[in-house]
Amino acid sequence: MFYFLWVIETLLCYYVAFYYPQYVAQNTQGHYFFCSAFSVILVGILTSVLLVSLNRLYEKENELSRRQKKEIEELNKAENNFFSSMSHEIRTPINTIIGLNEIILRGDIPEDVAENARNIQNASKMLLILINDILDLSKIKSKKMEIVNVSYETGTMFSDIINMIWIKTKEKGLEFRLHVDSSIPSMLCGDEVRIKQILINLLNNAVKYTDEGSITLSVRCERLNLNRVRIWFTVEDTGRGVKKENIPYIFNAFKRVDEEKNRHIEGTGLGLSIVHQLVELMGGEISVNSVYTKGSTFLVILEQDIVDDKELGGFTLDSHIRYREGDQYRQSFEAPNAHILVVDDNEMNLIVVKKLLAATKIQLDTALSGAECLQRTQTQYYDAILMDHLMPEMDGIQCLHALRTQPGGLCQNVPVLALTANAGSDNQLLYRKEGFSGYLAKPVSGALLEAAVSNILPRELVKFSEEVRQSELDKEILIFEQAQRTFLMVTTDSVCDLPESLKKKLGIKVCPYYICTDQGRFLDEVEIKADELLFYMATEKEGFSQPPSVADYESFFAERLTEAQNVIHITMAKHASQGYDNAVEAAKSFENVTVLDSGHLSSSMGLIVLYAASMVENHASKKEIVRTVKWLKHYVSSAFIIESTHWMCQAGRISKRIQIICDALLLHPIIVLRNSRMVVGGIGMGNFSHVAKSYIRKVLINKGNIDRRILFITYSGMDVQKVQYIRDMVQQYCPFEHIYIQKASSSIASNCGPGSFGLLFMKKIR
Ligand code: ADP
Repeated sequence: MFYFLWVIETLLCYYVAFYYPQYVAQNTQGHYFFCSAFSVILVGILTSVLLVSLNRLYEKENELSRRQKKEIEELNKAENNFFSSMSHEIRTPINTIIGLNEIILRGDIPEDVAENARNIQNASKMLLILINDILDLSKIKSKKMEIVNVSYETGTMFSDIINMIWIKTKEKGLEFRLHVDSSIPSMLCGDEVRIKQILINLLNNAVKYTDEGSITLSVRCERLNLNRVRIWFTVEDTGRGVKKENIPYIFNAFKRVDEEKNRHIEGTGLGLSIVHQLVELMGGEISVNSVYTKGSTFLVILEQDIVDDKELGGFTLDSHIRYREGDQYRQSFEAPNAHILVVDDNEMNLIVVKKLLAATKIQLDTALSGAECLQRTQTQYYDAILMDHLMPEMDGIQCLHALRTQPGGLCQNVPVLALTANAGSDNQLLYRKEGFSGYLAKPVSGALLEAAVSNILPRELVKFSEEVRQSELDKEILIFEQAQRTFLMVTTDSVCDLPESLKKKLGIKVCPYYICTDQGRFLDEVEIKADELLFYMATEKEGFSQPPSVADYESFFAERLTEAQNVIHITMAKHASQGYDNAVEAAKSFENVTVLDSGHLSSSMGLIVLYAASMVENHASKKEIVRTVKWLKHYVSSAFIIESTHWMCQAGRISKRIQIICDALLLHPIIVLRNSRMVVGGIGMGNFSHVAKSYIRKVLINKGNIDRRILFITYSGMDVQKVQYIRDMVQQYCPFEHIYIQKASSSIASNCGPGSFGLLFMKKIR
C-alpha cells in the first residue's frame, strides 16, 4: 500500500515539475519533490479516497458472502425439510400398503396370491430401509443428528441384536458365533439405539456379502477407570472380502465397490457411510481389515460410562435366542371391554389401524383431527388414545396438551401413544418430553400395534393369548416408562388404619411411622404390630411413635414416582404430628408430589384416603382430588374414647396431673379432631359397658346427618367380645351398610393404649 502511494506521489511530482517548475525543488539525487505541506495534503486526500473505495469494496464482498451463506443455510434447511417431509409423505402410503397387505396375508388365500403379497411386503420393507438411510444421512449432513445417551442394559441390547440377525444367518446356511466378554458391566450409559443400528448394519452386511462359512460378533471390554469402559465390537465374516484398493472408499456415501460382483446384492452404498459418521459422533473409531475372497473384519471401538458395575457374566447365544415361527401373524390378545380412540388426519391410516386391531375386538372410535378428538373426549371416556403427530391446524402434541387440561374432559389422565410417520430416534426424546406414553413409528405391523396397545391398556381389560410371549413383543416397541406407571397415585402413612385388602385393591401405598422403644426403633406395622407393642408396654416399658423423617419421605416419594407420574400424599392431622411438615419438606425435592393434611388420624384419616383413591379409580384429575380432600375433612367424624390417660401422658399429650385426676375418678376422655388438632370433646365415666353405650349414643346422635355406608370401629388392645358388643350396639342404634372392625396400628395404639376405640365415619355431604 505504502509502495503504491509512493509511486503515485513520484508520478505526480514529475507531472507538476514539468508543468509548474516554480513550485518544485530538485534534490541531490536528481528527484523532484514538493514542498512538504503540499505533499502531505495530497497524500492524505489520496489515501482517504483510496481507503473509502477499498472499504466499499470490502463491504460489498462481505455482503455478498453473507447473502451466499444465508442462501446456503436456507438451501440446507429446505433440503432437510424436504427429506423429513418426503420421509413422512412416503411413510404414509407405505403404511397403507404394508397394513392392508398384512390383512390380505392374514386371510385364507391361494398360495400364488400369498406369494405376491409376501413380495409386496419385502419390497415395502426395502423401501423403508432406504428412506430411513436417506433421512439419517441428511440429518448427519445438516448436523442435526443427535446422540442421545441413556442408561441401558448390555444383556438386553446384545439379546436384541442377535435376535435380529441369527435368523438371517440361519436362512442363508451360515453359522452365527457370539463371544461376549463376561466382565462387561451389566448397565452402561450411551446411545443404545445408535449402537444397535451400527452393529446391525455391520452384521447385515456380513450376512449379505458372505455365501458360506460363519459370522462372528465379539465384544471385548477394557476398564478405563472406575466409571468408564472402552468396548471393542468386532464383526467378522468369511465372505467375499473387499479388494485392498477399494477399502479407502467403502465408507463414502453412495459408494458401492466391486459392483460387477455385487450387482445382484441389494444395497445403496449408504450403510457404511452412516455407520462411520455415527461412530465419529459418539467419539469412537471404526476400522476394517479385509482379505479379498477370504472375508472381512470390522472393528468399532466406543467408550461408555458405567451405570451398574455388576458384571454381565456368561452370555451365550442359545440362552438368548427367541424363536419365532415365521412371519405369520398370531393374535396376541383380546380386549372386548376396552374402548380406544385413534386420531389421524389421514382416513386411510385410520382404516389400517381399525383393520389391524379388528381381531382384538377392541371398541375403536376414530377422529380425523385434534378438534374432533377433543369433542369426543368431552363426552366419552377412552382407555387409551393413539395419536398421529403431524396434523393440520392442531397437531398431535398440541392436542395431547389440550387433552391433559381439557375442562371437564374425561380423558385427562389416559395414556396417549404417538403413532406417527415422523420417524427418527431423536423423536423418542420429543414424544417423551411432551408427555406421550409411548411411541410407535409408522408403518406398523399388526403384531407391534397389538403389543403397543396391550401395553398401555389397563391390565384387567386385556386377555392375552396363551402362546404369545409378550416379552418378545415388548422389546420392539417404545413404551416410555411412565406408560407403565399410573398417572396418579394416592399414598398415605401407616397410621391410616385401613384394612390390607382395601389398600391393595385401591393401590394405596403407606409410608411407615416408627415405634421407638428401649429395645430399638421399629417400623410401624412392618416390624412391630400393635398387640406386640401393647404387650411390651404393659410391663411398664416405654414405647412411643415417631413420624418418618424428611429423608424417609424423600426416599418413599422417589420410589412411588417410579410407579406413578404424580403422587398425592395424605398425612395425619398436621398439629397432631410432625409428619405433615416432614412430608411437605420432602415433597420440595420433587415436582410431582402434593402433600395434603387429612386433618384426622387413624381410620378417619383412612376414610379420606379411600375417597381420594377411589376418585383416582374414576379418573378424576389431580386438581379435583386436591380440592375434594381439602373440604372433605370437614365431613369426617373422628372421636375416640380412651380407656386410660396413662398412655397419652406417656406420649406427652397430657400432663401427669390430669392423668392422676382422670385415673382417680375413672374418667375416660373422648378425643376428637378439630382443625387438625386433638382436643378433648367430652368425658365418659364409669365401667366399660356404661362408657361405651353413652359414647356410641353421643357420637351417633345426629343420625340423619350420617353417611351410613361405611363405619370403622377402630380399636386397640380389646378382646373380641368387647368389640362384638360395640358392633351390636351400633347396629341396634344406628345401622351401617358396611362395618369394618379395624385393629389400630402400633403407632396409634402407643398413643391411646389398650381398651380404647373410635367410631369413624363420614357425614352426609350436602
Ligand atoms: P451397501 O451394502 O448398501 O452397498 P454399504 O455402505 O453398507 O452399502 O457398503 C459399501 C460397500 O462396502 C458395499 O457395496 C460392499 O461392496 C462393501 N462391503 C461392506 N461390507 C462388506 C462385507 N462385510 N464384505 C464385503 N464387502 C463389504
